Amino acid sequence: MRRLLLIALLCLSSFAISQQKNPAEELPRLTHLSADQVNPQVDPCSDFYKYSCSKFFAANPIPPDQAGWGVAGPLLKWNETVLKQSLEAAAAKKQGRTVVEQKIGDYWTSCMDESKIETVSMKAFQPELKRIDDLKQKSQFADEIAHLHATVGQAWIVDDNATFAPLFGFTALQDYDDAQKTVAQFDQGGFALPGRDFYLSDDAKSVSVRKQYQTHIANMLKLTGESQAQATADAAVVLQIETDLAKAAMDAVKRRDPKNIDNKLTLAELQKLAPSFDWQRYLTLVHAPAQPTFLVTSPDFFRGLEQALQQHPLAHWKMYLKWQLAHYSSSALTKAFVNENFNFFGHTLAGTPELAPRWRRCVNSTDNALGEALGQAYVARAFPPESKERVLRIVKAIEAALDQDINNLSWMTPATKKQGITKLNAILDKIGYPDKWRDYSALEISPDTYLVNVRNATGFEFNRWVQKIGKPIDRYDWTMTPPTINAYYDPQFNTINFPAGILQPPFFSSDADDATNFGAEGAVIGHEITHGFDDQGRKFDDKGNLHDWWTAEDAKNYDERGKCISDEYTQEIPEAGVKQNGLMTQGEDTADNGGIYLALLALENTLKQQGKTLETKGDDGLTEIQRFFLSFANNWCEELRPEIMRTVVLTNPHSLPKYRVNNTLANMPEFAKAYGCAKGKPMVHENACRVW
Ligand SMILES: [Zn+2]
Repeated sequence: MRRLLLIALLCLSSFAISQQKNPAEELPRLTHLSADQVNPQVDPCSDFYKYSCSKFFAANPIPPDQAGWGVAGPLLKWNETVLKQSLEAAAAKKQGRTVVEQKIGDYWTSCMDESKIETVSMKAFQPELKRIDDLKQKSQFADEIAHLHATVGQAWIVDDNATFAPLFGFTALQDYDDAQKTVAQFDQGGFALPGRDFYLSDDAKSVSVRKQYQTHIANMLKLTGESQAQATADAAVVLQIETDLAKAAMDAVKRRDPKNIDNKLTLAELQKLAPSFDWQRYLTLVHAPAQPTFLVTSPDFFRGLEQALQQHPLAHWKMYLKWQLAHYSSSALTKAFVNENFNFFGHTLAGTPELAPRWRRCVNSTDNALGEALGQAYVARAFPPESKERVLRIVKAIEAALDQDINNLSWMTPATKKQGITKLNAILDKIGYPDKWRDYSALEISPDTYLVNVRNATGFEFNRWVQKIGKPIDRYDWTMTPPTINAYYDPQFNTINFPAGILQPPFFSSDADDATNFGAEGAVIGHEITHGFDDQGRKFDDKGNLHDWWTAEDAKNYDERGKCISDEYTQEIPEAGVKQNGLMTQGEDTADNGGIYLALLALENTLKQQGKTLETKGDDGLTEIQRFFLSFANNWCEELRPEIMRTVVLTNPHSLPKYRVNNTLANMPEFAKAYGCAKGKPMVHENACRVW
């Protein structure tokens, strides 16, 4: 369970780039906020997001191979181009390559060689299909699922909705009751649409998306060698099985409360819950260290899984397994598979008209597979020690602001305040990149077979997690790679993590003034720190244990304030055609509101040391506080296509960018004052919410 900052849209989308001879010329110029970016025709007190972003949107339409596009676009382009240059250099080097250069260079070569994928990779795929064809009885499932988990799927990526892996998820996690211990976790999963509501909602749009999904499954099965008639019939069965699993799954809001997923079962109890699956055999095959108990996030899901295992005959399960195998392997297979996968997941669900160019997909694939190898050159080029020092100073200023904020809170008793400050002081700040790089020497990579490389990398990562079970915790391990434009807070490690990728313009710039940096990166840092104290994070103590450190009165006060936020964000999103569930986004919205407040407090303290105030005017005609708010809004200038908006609102715990800006600022009297917004204006909420 880790709380992210962004909606990770940039990772799904893509951009076009001109083909130039000199790679250095491909690099876009990275800039931070400029005051002339605002649209003077818009009243900042009516719609600050439009005031700050509409000029940018008008000049930068979403490219055809993008689901969204915003001010972070040039940074994404820059990051990926730099990574591409490292990969090309590593691939071209003939002699004396380091282990890192061999791994990333050969992985890249195998990914870029599309003709070899059509032949060699497809040849390697056939035995995988045959394994499934050869299954004789359901009792062999444990063998096949163990094999699939160690070769395909994303078993270590646990999302707010489920683990995206065949049948269920298995990974390591800290014990909720004793964060010093690493335990084994079985999680709901086994369905490929982004959330359970996609299977269960009855509105016309959902029905139509499911119909397209079923066609997509049939098309994929056809590519594995089935006839059209067979594939059409099989797809209906696959959708039924996934629907059975989704129905049994816990919904995303209930799943947000860690108490609901803290269920420990012995192996005998798990076997009794779902007797049709041989759990011991699965554990043996994935080489999981022996454990007295297992964290089973959702016992109801495993009850439903048992029902499905009993109900569907072996022939149905073979169809399901084949689909899951093809789905999770598609990016490493032929163009036909890649295009079919894009047509549904890229086009139908995200609205992107065109597939990203091959090189971009290969940069991202290498980053997924070998992120801490590929990230080394990126850090050397993009994140000098001076930047790290300045970011750390901003982090410390924001932590000091939270200390000050807690001490000044009117609604919290001294006992709870003391505990909160203990937790704050125990946060580990991780900036840029790991102190010690991951060792990939055991991961076999060849320049010839992309599919095998992807499978090996998946197995390496799955096994790395499984082998954490029962071992001492490692707070210094990262779950994001250095070039990632994102950040996270981990409540069980009590760490904040900012990859070097987000410590670049427009988020952070070594030549920007404090107001600009605090409004952008400062609000990001404040956001992550606030996650330790949002409706979910507040349930964990300084050591990461799920332990209630609140007095009953303070908890009640907190819940009232939290409800203000969840009510405020429970709103119709006309541009997406759906309603937002403010209970699902409560943690992120709380972090947005707390983050900007803490960043402002920290800026005020920093300016004071320089003999300035928030009202001091700069050369650009803006006061420090105006520039701060503008820089905050600028961070979120990102336009999205309606399809991806709908998917995000239905499944993602983050609000859409427009609401991240407008709802947050409309809660702040400091904003109304800075821009002279009168009571009654849309950017001045009458019932303003404030937690931190
Ligand atoms: Zn967040």
